[in-house]
Amino acid sequence: MPELPEVEVVRRGLERWVAHRTVADAEVLHPRSVRRHVAGADDFAHRLKGHRVGVPSRRGKYLWLPLSDTGQAILAHLGMSGQLLVQPHTAPAEKHLRIRVRFADALGTELRFVDQRTFGGLSLHDTTPDGLPDVIAHIARDPLDPLFDDEAFHQALRRRRTTVKRALLDQSLISGVGNIYADEALWRARLHYDRPTATLTRPRTMELLGHARDVMNAALAVGGTSFDSLYVNVNGESGYFDRSLDAYGREGLPCKRCGTPMRRRPWMNRSSYFCPKCQRVPRVSS
Ligand SMILES: [Zn+2]
Repeated sequence: MPELPEVEVVRRGLERWVAHRTVADAEVLHPRSVRRHVAGADDFAHRLKGHRVGVPSRRGKYLWLPLSDTGQAILAHLGMSGQLLVQPHTAPAEKHLRIRVRFADALGTELRFVDQRTFGGLSLHDTTPDGLPDVIAHIARDPLDPLFDDEAFHQALRRRRTTVKRALLDQSLISGVGNIYADEALWRARLHYDRPTATLTRPRTMELLGHARDVMNAALAVGGTSFDSLYVNVNGESGYFDRSLDAYGREGLPCKRCGTPMRRRPWMNRSSYFCPKCQRVPRVSS
């Protein structure tokens, strides 16, 4: 699954290549890719036609394209293998092309949703007064959002009976920090993933947030992390941040800080990578 930096890379590509263009027509080539649009493929295509795309927006890993004068937005679900590509009209159709959006201008390019495994898709939703698709109105701001409230986050951690990695992945507390960046931020902050959040002091929370921002900004600077050759950004280039990871995927390799072999533990149907020396298992107290 793409994480926040990958989605932001796609958003920036769309902002550059698709924003402010008017839809001439949309063609749905596989009904599964619009299954979240309950009124169906024809309705989806009809509602796009003739409307101008606004500036693409993102919250956490959610990406959407506002449709001007409709009070609606197209929400993109990239799923496991979804790609949004801007291609010349003349480019041959991709093998897994699912949705094609043509524009009413002479730029010569179109937007394509390509998705091999069809877990992703596009759907139309009404927007809230904040401009969010209503189905994601409950998603918290992400730490790269200028309006993210660090103090409120800290207070929420103190109140909750939870552990720090669970909290980092709780989309109602903080969005956009996926499994990879949670492990990276925890390694940088020298925190074990099972540390109870009630034990975090304000400076520790602020340090952790700072590391989460640093690791995501570093990924953004190089175009997002890619672990799946299916993931490419809007211009068709693969992300290549994976070489820079300090924790995720490094089981058995020496910790880049202390040299101790890194460990991997099963965690909520995923894995957690950590250094057993730098990130001590929390002692059970009370
Ligand atoms: Zn270490």
